[in-house]
Amino acid sequence: MNASVHIKTSLPGPKAQAMIARDAEVISPSYPRDYPFVMSHGRGTEVWDVDGNRFLDFAAGIAVCATGHAHPEVVDAVKAAADRFLHISSDYWHEQMTGLGERIARVAPMGEPAMSFLCQSGTEAVEGALKLARYVTRRPRYLGFLGGFHGRTMGSLSFTSSKYTQQLGFAPTMPGVTHVPFPNPFRPLFAGSDQGQAVLNYIRMLFERSVPASEVAAIMVEPIQGEGGYLVPPEGFLAGLRALCDEHGILLIFDEVQSGVGRTGKLFASEHWGVKPDIMTLAKGLGSGLPIGAVVAKRSLMSQWKRGAHGNTYGGNPLACAAANATLDLVVGGLAENASRTGAHFMKRLHELAKDYPCIGEVRGKGLMIGMELIENDEQRTPARALCDAVVTRAFHHGLLLLSCGTSTVRFMPPLNVSTQEIDEAMVLLRAALDDALAAH
Ligand code: PLP
Repeated sequence: MNASVHIKTSLPGPKAQAMIARDAEVISPSYPRDYPFVMSHGRGTEVWDVDGNRFLDFAAGIAVCATGHAHPEVVDAVKAAADRFLHISSDYWHEQMTGLGERIARVAPMGEPAMSFLCQSGTEAVEGALKLARYVTRRPRYLGFLGGFHGRTMGSLSFTSSKYTQQLGFAPTMPGVTHVPFPNPFRPLFAGSDQGQAVLNYIRMLFERSVPASEVAAIMVEPIQGEGGYLVPPEGFLAGLRALCDEHGILLIFDEVQSGVGRTGKLFASEHWGVKPDIMTLAKGLGSGLPIGAVVAKRSLMSQWKRGAHGNTYGGNPLACAAANATLDLVVGGLAENASRTGAHFMKRLHELAKDYPCIGEVRGKGLMIGMELIENDEQRTPARALCDAVVTRAFHHGLLLLSCGTSTVRFMPPLNVSTQEIDEAMVLLRAALDDALAAH
């Protein structure tokens, strides 16, 4: 039985099956598609497949549809931009591009004037941030974090380490990157209660033994680790990284591609701890679905780039910038606050759920960036990987789109304008999915 009355066919339905068969002939098999959802259209948090089944989208295109699907103000802004011109290239100026730079500068968390370099994706934003750090410091090395995800092009891939499949078959990537553990109090790697301090000590040890701090251009970190498991750092950890960077003239890059633009209930996740980056990367939610990324940096750093030092063809694309301008206006104008409010409600409901399901080891997150880690019924909190996959699949069959992260964490990242009613509906579907998955486990 489907917990949702909106699922009317077996899944995938006949039209979805036909599409998947055509796609298999011509589209790369490398896309990690978890279940057969074939989209027809969407509005807000609701999406429909080609067979007329309606789902609640708590994956939001991997945390991209910040304003929900097809938000009328974003759609109107894109249509108006398209009526004027589709492209001119970043060699010229136009209102949408400059206006976006101004909007970002107004809210950037650097604590001093900021500039943006615009691009099309998260990985390209990360590449830009890495290049800027190397350019202004003239240093060759970087530190990244185990479990981090920063993209799949060769520079960003050299940091990405949330699953080994992302690396397998692609070595060598960019040299000079040393990974350190991301602090995880639920799965402590180090003795003692402060895992954040332990990681900072570990970095100090690296600086003394094998990675000369004077050669490190930047430390890149996700303020809340995303693909690696929706891990919230312990209090004091990001501030400790900031202090370490300041001590050694190292730049601090916050990759806010997933956690930024209101997702955590604040405009940028780093604001939960009041720690200021030197460089920040954005993408995903910034364009509500139109492909756009940004390297945001202190003006004192980005203004050092000489003409031609970095560039692209599509940066500042008018449609993408129009979508980003409308998105930022909506997020600043209330959606970040909604994420904070509905996120608190969601978190409370998940904590209640956890009382009924011992397989829920931990619920964690901020705003609408929430992870639910599933564990086996043993002392070691063994990650329940198969159970997690089954919950995500069964949720789909009940009409709820979810994704996983880490080893066995179900993640929830609905649009920032999700309602508490939709969250309550999702809880019913989630419970049904858990029951199915546990019955088969
Ligand atoms: N950085 C973070 C934190 C991400 O979560 C992602 C994608 O999931 C990326 C970078 C890469 O973004 P894209 O897939 O747009 O290249």
